[in-house]
Amino acid sequence: MASRQTWILVGVLVLGALALVAVAVVPLPQENVPRVSGQSPRDASLRRRTTKVDWSQVPIDRQRVYGYLKQICALGPRPSGSPGMQRQIALLQAHFQNLGAQVQQQSFVVRHPLDGTPVRMTNLLIRWHPERSSRVLLCAHYDTRPYPDRDPVDPRGTFLGANDGASGVAVLMELGHHLGKLKLRHGVDFVLFDGEEFVFRETDRYFLGSEHFARHYAQSRRKYRYRWGVLLDMVGDADLAIYQEANSMRTAATRRLTRSIWNTARRLGVREFVPRIGYEVRDDHLPLNEIARIPTCDVIDFHYPYWHTRQDVPEKCSPESLAKVAWVMLEWLKRLR
Ligand SMILES: [Zn+2]
Repeated sequence: MASRQTWILVGVLVLGALALVAVAVVPLPQENVPRVSGQSPRDASLRRRTTKVDWSQVPIDRQRVYGYLKQICALGPRPSGSPGMQRQIALLQAHFQNLGAQVQQQSFVVRHPLDGTPVRMTNLLIRWHPERSSRVLLCAHYDTRPYPDRDPVDPRGTFLGANDGASGVAVLMELGHHLGKLKLRHGVDFVLFDGEEFVFRETDRYFLGSEHFARHYAQSRRKYRYRWGVLLDMVGDADLAIYQEANSMRTAATRRLTRSIWNTARRLGVREFVPRIGYEVRDDHLPLNEIARIPTCDVIDFHYPYWHTRQDVPEKCSPESLAKVAWVMLEWLKRLR
């Protein structure tokens, strides 16, 4: 009897130890992960989907859009409140005004997460056909992370943010050449969010710019309404594969929106848009969906090995990837009813 009891005790202890190990291995719940969660499967058979495109038939200028990405990176790092961000604001303001858009700055001040000093944040609002009351929002963040914290060699080195920062901006700069001429029922606003990742520690807050924008939209008296929102983030990876993002498939409205974008890609033969969920990402679309109640989809390629490292540079992006995303967005806009 005694020995049997001992074995039962040993069994219970072993099971207990296994349960502890399991708890340690299971990923943290999503809300404890500041920006992203979910696995990054690197299934090579799924990723080699590069589409051959007859570029003479595509209205997007792939060298021009890639040139914009390089031009933004040449400004240097662009964290909130930095001289690089100031230079970027000046560049974008001139770019979009020259193309005929109305440009507004939406500024607000936050406390620096490390020393509490005031930091001025600026969302850039770029309006096409501002008189139209039914509107579509295309957005991206344009600040870059202060440090490449995931860099295996120098996590306090220089972070350029070619894909994570400049790629969405470059696509919008290219689309600016087409928006004035488009015959749409809707007005279109491009919004560039500041403070997406003004983050120095795990506990620092993300999405400062999009949250400010969403609150302002929800609380202000206005004559227009956003029907749809599309967020572009990390869309320049030379090895592009854009899966659907789980938070963008939560409600009937966002599912409809997400599927309409992927259907546009399929119609064009851009197979880099893979029509199934690949990851769950916390990003600027959450405040838009939850605070502003604008059905918003995150178009993001989260399988990017250089994410938050010093290797996130223009050479890891490609003209073709940027141009394919710009093309899908342009054709999606043309078909909007
Ligand atoms: Zn980032």
